[in-house]
Amino acid sequence: LQPFEINILGVGSATPHLGRHMSAQLVKIHTQYLLIDCGEGTQYQLLQYGLPINKINYIFISHLHGDHYYGLIALLSTMSMYGRTNELIIFAPKGLQEIIELQLKYSESVLNYKATFIDLTTETKQLLLKEKKWYVEFFPLNHRIKTFGFLFHEITPSNKLIKEALPKDITLAEIAQLKLGNSVYNTDGSIKIKIDEVTLPPTVARSYAYCSDTAYLPHLSQWIPGVDVLYHESTFLNALQNRAETTYHSTAEQAAKVASAAKVNTLILGHFSSRYKTTTEFESEAKEIFDTTYVAHEGMKIVINEPKENNPYVRIYTI
Ligand SMILES: [Zn+2]
Ligand SMILES: [Zn+2]
Repeated sequence: LQPFEINILGVGSATPHLGRHMSAQLVKIHTQYLLIDCGEGTQYQLLQYGLPINKINYIFISHLHGDHYYGLIALLSTMSMYGRTNELIIFAPKGLQEIIELQLKYSESVLNYKATFIDLTTETKQLLLKEKKWYVEFFPLNHRIKTFGFLFHEITPSNKLIKEALPKDITLAEIAQLKLGNSVYNTDGSIKIKIDEVTLPPTVARSYAYCSDTAYLPHLSQWIPGVDVLYHESTFLNALQNRAETTYHSTAEQAAKVASAAKVNTLILGHFSSRYKTTTEFESEAKEIFDTTYVAHEGMKIVINEPKENNPYVRIYTI
């Protein structure tokens, strides 16, 4: 099974709180490393947890509030000084390219590699990036400025052929049918090769959704149905629901409502206001509605294994 894991680098929001860096996560999907958000100090967090800075080929920035991208110019510069030559693709709302180019211009710096910015804009869920084995979709969240959520999804792999069980005279067209999960038939309609005798069923496609920052958005669940892991912001506890509404953020209870409606497997809460000294209450509040909830912390690694019945296939570790 190819790796599909999420490394949490920061869970803070707005103003600093010791022990909580601002939003950033490194997702490893198969052989690729994807960075989601890049709060202040993200490069130190990558070093801290031994994660490979120059293997990141895609960066996804949810929105242009500082707690989600103030670490970017530093990371881009370090990548250059580390000798990067591979192109880097950065998905972000319009404006980030201008900001970064201005910072480079007045420091009279140039990057040694090509950084390509792709402006995000959409009113609904849309495909953003498609690779051979996985793809990324994005969708609008409800925040004070343009903000997007991301959905990382494996492509359902094809059936695995059992080579020894295949007939010697099998044709390429017949192999293609089997890979699609179909039996092969003779012209008279009788079965020639029975699918479950020559193939193993494919592994189930795994998925991860990142939703930060947003006011409570009930229809969000329709865009992320049945994802294995949902990371949803919970800046406040429910006692401050009014504050959450006026600042376009969510409470732990609201995040749990989304997780429950979307029937996700595991909910991870993050983006905590610095007014909270501990985060245990976020977990207990959310668990009233959605049981498999965890509070994110720096150095948390979430591993999505192969979904199997009665088996907690999403595993949580501390790096
Ligand atoms: Zn934020
Ligand atoms: Zn924000």
